[in-house]
Amino acid sequence: MITASNAAAHRMQGNIEDLPWQQQMRLAIRSVDELLAVVGVDPGQFPEGLIARSPFPLLVPHSFVYRMRRGDPTDPLLLQVLPLAAERLQQAGFGSDPVGDAAAERAPGLLHKYAGRALLISTGACAIHCRYCFRRHYPYAESLAAKQDWAAVVDAISADSSIVEVLLSGGDPLSLSTAKLRRLTDQLAAIPHLRRLRLHTRWPVVLPARVDSELLDWIADLPWPVSIVLHANHAQEFDTRVDQACTALRSAGALLLNQAVLLAGVNDCTDRQQQLSERLFAAGVLPYYLHLLDRVSGAGHFEVSATRGEAIIDQLRQRLPGYLVPRLAKEVAGEGSKRIVR
Ligand code: SF4
Repeated sequence: MITASNAAAHRMQGNIEDLPWQQQMRLAIRSVDELLAVVGVDPGQFPEGLIARSPFPLLVPHSFVYRMRRGDPTDPLLLQVLPLAAERLQQAGFGSDPVGDAAAERAPGLLHKYAGRALLISTGACAIHCRYCFRRHYPYAESLAAKQDWAAVVDAISADSSIVEVLLSGGDPLSLSTAKLRRLTDQLAAIPHLRRLRLHTRWPVVLPARVDSELLDWIADLPWPVSIVLHANHAQEFDTRVDQACTALRSAGALLLNQAVLLAGVNDCTDRQQQLSERLFAAGVLPYYLHLLDRVSGAGHFEVSATRGEAIIDQLRQRLPGYLVPRLAKEVAGEGSKRIVR
């Protein structure tokens, strides 16, 4: 139900979205009670219970909340950020490092899993806390690439001429200031064997004001072809501001791809996946991977079976051109590439 105060909060969010991204983050919602009040959902609608204070706390900016359906406890955006008591269930096969990050660390914050590519854990900060995040237990305090102004990771990449592509990940790399990102890429630009840069980020979708002129200038100035992998899971995550951010990123020269996670209650049906692929394409983004859930502790309630994922992909192939059907993939710790399931 939308109450008068919720409606007022709803209108205010429109104004919040006009603020610079840093201010929007300062105003982000950080409590379960506030989030449910803003979206007009009664906590009693979650009989299994909620977690008021989690070590991986609730974080969601108003720009994302604005796209949630009011009064709907099953809203697919709400379910991505709401800490349900189900997170406390201990489940066999789930752990704190489901994709083997620790074993792949070559320098603090530099992971080398796949041939030719190095991944930087550039920051532990994000625009949003996704309850299914496979790095929700990552020891960011000890393993950050941005320490000492990137010196250790730049040295490690310089010393390995097999690395031709650097991936900025996290956390979310666009949580860093653009000046800090530029200091990194200025140093990487001196490494002759680098040929590509990739960013994995949820910022342009979650808080599109992050795509400001300073960020676009940085991307346009980069000396390599750049791909940006968005992590949108549902068509409802797109609105006009997100479309504008995607258009601006493409105009700055970035190739836009998307990888989603197959999440129970969020996008685990063919209709929703079809809507996502079509909405991505309308925004100028190609579907790339649909990931099976990485089995991280606290996220078991999101798991969808591989069999169900395969059926969805098969049905998508009947409905969409091949370039709009993502590959169903799974990351297996220790393997030299993602495993393509379908
Ligand atoms: S934005 Fe990415 S890294 Fe951050 S919590 Fe969400 S899934 Fe995890």
